[in-house]
Amino acid sequence: MKMLIQGQLEDAQGAGVIQVANPATGEVVDSVPKGTREDAKRAIDAASDAFKVWSEKPSIERSRVLLKIAELVRSSVEDLAATLTLEQGKPLGEARSEVNSFANTCEYYAGLIGRERGAHTQFSTGEGFFIVTKRPLGVVGAILPWNFPVSLMGWKLAPGLAAGNTFVVKPASTTPMTDIKIGTLLAKAGLTPGAVNVVTGPGAVVGEELLDNPKVAKIAFTGETATGRRIMEGSAKHIKRLTLELGGSDPMIVCDDADLALAVEGAAWGRFRNCGQSCTSVKRLFLFESIADEFIKAFAEKVKTIRVGNGMEKSTHMGPVHTEEQRAKVESMVEDAQNRGAKDLVKGGRPTGGGLEKGNFYTPTVLTGVGYDAQMAREECFGPALPIFVVKDLEEGIERANDTPYGLGSSVWTKDVERAYHAAERIQAGTTWVNSPPISRAEVPFGGFKQSGFGRELGIEGLDHYYETKSIQVLEYGKGKKWAFPIS
Ligand code: NDP
Repeated sequence: MKMLIQGQLEDAQGAGVIQVANPATGEVVDSVPKGTREDAKRAIDAASDAFKVWSEKPSIERSRVLLKIAELVRSSVEDLAATLTLEQGKPLGEARSEVNSFANTCEYYAGLIGRERGAHTQFSTGEGFFIVTKRPLGVVGAILPWNFPVSLMGWKLAPGLAAGNTFVVKPASTTPMTDIKIGTLLAKAGLTPGAVNVVTGPGAVVGEELLDNPKVAKIAFTGETATGRRIMEGSAKHIKRLTLELGGSDPMIVCDDADLALAVEGAAWGRFRNCGQSCTSVKRLFLFESIADEFIKAFAEKVKTIRVGNGMEKSTHMGPVHTEEQRAKVESMVEDAQNRGAKDLVKGGRPTGGGLEKGNFYTPTVLTGVGYDAQMAREECFGPALPIFVVKDLEEGIERANDTPYGLGSSVWTKDVERAYHAAERIQAGTTWVNSPPISRAEVPFGGFKQSGFGRELGIEGLDHYYETKSIQVLEYGKGKKWAFPIS
């Protein structure tokens, strides 16, 4: 596969390639060019030229292009989803839903653009008035992770293009293929050539050029908190605008009055979708003492029904962990908890037989009696292992929920609306779901508190992050004498 610069599929200027492996089999699926800083520069120049054209298009035209992109993506859903499963590992059903969510985000922003209202207000001194307008930022560097390569590209491109910006997309090196395929569909939708470029290559090379290059006005990044710190440092030189969506360690609190059957389903969905590799996966489960035994019994039964396998097979509920490195991290966190006294409620690990030993599989793991000093309780566990903690009441649940440097998502399960609202107001997280697993919706702003990042994607707030606010101050004729110089 080639990368996309100014609407053309190209090789890298150097001769290198990056091989893309299937996490379920270890087989090489394809390769992409190992882009250089020169490649990134060419893409940035293309996006900068395209900005002059795209930003001047009437909003109705930008809206039509976004609708066309959505249509083309929907009509290619089977091919795009299969590519996503091959490179990322997630089951085909999840891949389909991710591709459709890209289209959905485009449709949402196509509907929003041109309908926003600005402000026109008299000065308090009566001398005239001011208008508040919005201007696009320019070239945006979108740096993507491997866990949701498609939907997270949509969260950036859809509002950014709607607002008139142009892009250089840097996909994760292990999941570049579906993003390239979507990039090539954009030209067919009538997008200005060069308005979206997809440059493959190492983060430390292509990503660093996006940080360094003064023509890039903003970095929209999703990934690890440690990389987020580097993005902040690298962007400081040119004071770039930033949206950072970083890691999380989301708590789920189940109260004594919750619908337990629903909460059991929610916990399974929240932890094991995408093999536990979502920024908003349920990563710490807090149960009220009085319902803990009943919940734990039902949850163990549910988790044991999860079928692990190749995402291309219909019978698969959960695919492999994305890379061996990621699997080793999860395994070491589980061992750390066990060494500190945790007990296996559902014993997981590396499966063998049926060809599973060739992939990065790790079967669902649930631990009870986990100490608050365990790594899993303090750091992000990005895989299919869940620690369960027992709390005496909501106040203890909230206190424990807040006891991490993260603050991305959270959930509370109760039938009592006062309780739900009390918890939602006090949990330090960008989103609290009430009686729901973590589901993102195009119209709801998403982002983190604390070290989970800043800025918001999706919703009206997501669009705002692709604009500069511009104030135009107008003095009424004959009313400006007060500012005659010298000032008396
Ligand atoms: P990384 O932070 O390792 O990588 C993310 C992207 O950054 C990749 O494209 C990577 O390129 C690139 N990158 C790496 N180094 C640099 C650099 N110096 N300059 C510029 N770009 C760079 O995260 P992962 O892809 O491993 O994703 C997993 C993590 O992301 C998890 O911790 C998860 O919690 C978090 N995450 C957060 C989300 C949120 O919305 N808050 C959503 C999804 C994930 P390359 O692949 O070439 O190394």
